[in-house]
Amino acid sequence: MAKISINLATGSLQKEEIIVGIDLGTTNSLVAFIDPDKNPKVINDTGKGLLVPSIVHFNAAGDTLVGNEAREFLITDPANTIFSVKRLLGRSYKDIAGHQDTFSYKLIDEGNDSLVKIQAGDKFYTPIELSAEILKELKARAEHALKTPVNRAVITVPAYFNDSQRQATRDAGRLAGLDVLRIVNEPTAASLAYGIGLDPTEQKTIAVYDLGGGTFDVSILAIQNGIFEVLSTNGNTFLGGDDFDRAIVHYWIDKNKLDATALDSGLMQQLRLKAEEAKKALSTQNLFNEKSGEIWYTLDRHTFEQLIEAKVTETLNSCKQALKDAKLAVTDIDEVVMVGGSTRTPYVKAQVAAFFGRQPHDRINPDEVVALGAAIQADILAGNRSDILLLDVTPLSLGIETMGGLMDVIIARNAKVPTKAGRQYTTSIDGQVNMKISVYQGERDLVQENRKLAEFDLKGIPSMPAGMPKVDINFILNADGILTVQAIELRSGVKQEIDITPSYGLTDDTVEKMLIDSITHAESDVAQRMLIEARGEGEQLVYTAERFIEKNSFILTSEELENTKIHITALRAALSEGNKDIILKKADELNEFTRPFAERLMDMAVSKAMKGKAID
Ligand code: AMP
Repeated sequence: MAKISINLATGSLQKEEIIVGIDLGTTNSLVAFIDPDKNPKVINDTGKGLLVPSIVHFNAAGDTLVGNEAREFLITDPANTIFSVKRLLGRSYKDIAGHQDTFSYKLIDEGNDSLVKIQAGDKFYTPIELSAEILKELKARAEHALKTPVNRAVITVPAYFNDSQRQATRDAGRLAGLDVLRIVNEPTAASLAYGIGLDPTEQKTIAVYDLGGGTFDVSILAIQNGIFEVLSTNGNTFLGGDDFDRAIVHYWIDKNKLDATALDSGLMQQLRLKAEEAKKALSTQNLFNEKSGEIWYTLDRHTFEQLIEAKVTETLNSCKQALKDAKLAVTDIDEVVMVGGSTRTPYVKAQVAAFFGRQPHDRINPDEVVALGAAIQADILAGNRSDILLLDVTPLSLGIETMGGLMDVIIARNAKVPTKAGRQYTTSIDGQVNMKISVYQGERDLVQENRKLAEFDLKGIPSMPAGMPKVDINFILNADGILTVQAIELRSGVKQEIDITPSYGLTDDTVEKMLIDSITHAESDVAQRMLIEARGEGEQLVYTAERFIEKNSFILTSEELENTKIHITALRAALSEGNKDIILKKADELNEFTRPFAERLMDMAVSKAMKGKAID
């Protein structure tokens, strides 16, 4: 077991290189480092400010702008200006159903389990590619400000992010040319920024309350031996300071007797901006009072608090639920940490303090606290803090082969050992009774480029339709570096297990070479993975569309049938050509064209069912 640092520019082992901490946020992102005086600092690239709005704009030529420059286009070119991409990372269309209206750009809605894609111009982007654009900008700013190449980073994610969202964040980092040493939970980073958890003998339970512009979450963490464990999380991904602004806007519309239905978008925008200004002012003063044209913008702190009371109570209810899920009482919490711009509102602070019965930590700027903590975590990984015990880590990722020869990582590189992780899989063919499980080690997206450790068959799965069996695959890596791979089909209890020693025959040189290869090939690897995934989706769609017209051609006119076939042929041609963007475009066109037919079929089924019933 070892931890290896490499310089991407020279390919040599390096100990002293700066590792940055990145807070990749829904609204804003920022990058921090540890300065020569050992203090964490947010990087301020001259004149550009600390916060980089997490916004990407594409012009007609497909060139990108990121941050404040991209924000300008939110109003003038909303269709090609992508914001809140973090909400889409690692998510499928099903996951975001009902929230499409939040996004002003085009989401490709295939109505299934595949990952969300975004269309800008005639190109299709995954949230991974868009997040990579933001990370590239942060990397460039850090390099400019620090005057040195920045190739390694720690990136934070919300504690509630699942495996797929974490993997997507890791991929985005790689695509941006960053070696992502660790994905760290945001509440863990915020605690580290306050020095909580840095003493290995410390045992504490803490609550991290994070209220941003559009999201709220609370996490309960247990710290023991320098390890942070998430006991529970709760929150609402559509609640935040923007709701406070909206409440103020409605109040002013009322007070000024404006007709809400007849407001033009310019005035609406002005009301919103003034509302945010008033809200911020009321964090330090008791009254906001301005007049512009015929409109009075007046608000006192007490009224503001009444306006936001229900929303704040909602966050406290989440805290209650999080405590309940962690099986803890409020008195078990030793520390409370505040994160997110909206915790600057004194009423929020007071309510949180009253709920937990203690003063929360709020000394550090709540917009920066997560990035600062990520920088501290980076410094720990760099081995610069001798007072902190560095745990053994696994030097290369461990995973299994999935569809199209892709590597599915189950234990990521740099994970502390001992560790345990698992994921659920299913069959792809009807009546499949065996499942081949191939275990690999390495960082490349295609298993053929990685090191094969073992292969075994899970036999005796009862015959079921494709997708029905539930096969849990668990990786258990013990402190001696022995990996146990367990596969169990949950419906039947069929089970198989093997032991492997992943480090057997693995020299430091091999590890180093595998890491360098993974980085030099990162871009082509991710592109290949995306193509394989697009192909999988395209092929599935051809299959479903063909089955559909085979069974239901009677509901289509001959022209519709002909055109469906033309779309299918076009998608087939794209599949054999192998261009990801064209495959996704043709798949989208086929989907769009056939969607009304599926609806027609449903309507017919409903009216048929109604006919048989007597309605009094
Ligand atoms: P974040 O998503 O963490 O960057 O938080 C942004 C939210 O914090 C926005 O809703 C801002 O309006 C809000 N915010 C920023 N500064 C203040 C302040 N001084 N008082 C109250 N809310 C603020």
